[in-house]
Amino acid sequence: MFAHNPPKKITIMITSKIKKFQFTPHSLSGQRLMEMFDLLLAHFGPQNWWPAETELEVMIGAILTQNTNWANVEKAIFNLKNKGLVSLERLVSLPIEDLAKEIRPAGYYNIKTKRLKNLINFIFVQYDGDLAGLLQEETDRLREGLLSVNGVGPETADSIILYAAKRPLFVIDTYTHRILSRHAMAGEEATYYDMQELFMDHLPEDAPLFNEFHALIVQAGKNYCRKNPLCEDCPLKQWGPQDNMND
Ligand code: SF4
Repeated sequence: MFAHNPPKKITIMITSKIKKFQFTPHSLSGQRLMEMFDLLLAHFGPQNWWPAETELEVMIGAILTQNTNWANVEKAIFNLKNKGLVSLERLVSLPIEDLAKEIRPAGYYNIKTKRLKNLINFIFVQYDGDLAGLLQEETDRLREGLLSVNGVGPETADSIILYAAKRPLFVIDTYTHRILSRHAMAGEEATYYDMQELFMDHLPEDAPLFNEFHALIVQAGKNYCRKNPLCEDCPLKQWGPQDNMND
């Protein structure tokens, strides 16, 4: 489908800690993905995700951000912080209606209250309230445990694993699917796991790289690759073939 150019050596600079390493993609897909990464990083700069002070705050944010924008999540987290509620002990004993009141700005607050409570209860029932113990679990076991919680799907679980447990698991979201399919890197019918495999089979398993890459994709999606795409100003306009602009 694409011209077969020899693999390029690409220098990756990641986050304010300025991790630099040389990576030579061994496949055309790996090369294309790293070109995408470089274009996005050059345009947006390091994102320094996840915007949270603690692992628990990452986990709360990962639930609250479902089906809403981050500005609304920030308001809900501000409420929780303001009342000293970003604490497992406080959250586990907090009445459900009080939690719902604080997270209301995040939208779908009744559902999200239940989901947050499910996650907190899981940590208490399975790990005796020891969050560090949960996050130290081997990655597959951690993922399996998180996915067993009602209301935690693959994107939420993988966000927690990447951004709280700092393991190299690529997070896929709607923006990733839209951008990859518009650039003929994935079919419209591609599943979450198809796309996750694409990144993980062709890139080095590196948590800082996956952290930065997903954050940059979110920026591209929010700012340019909307339902009605703004290709003219997008940093990815030179990035390979484009089609399928109707989703
Ligand atoms: S806005 Fe256009 S150029 Fe940018 S990622 Fe989407 S389809 Fe590609």
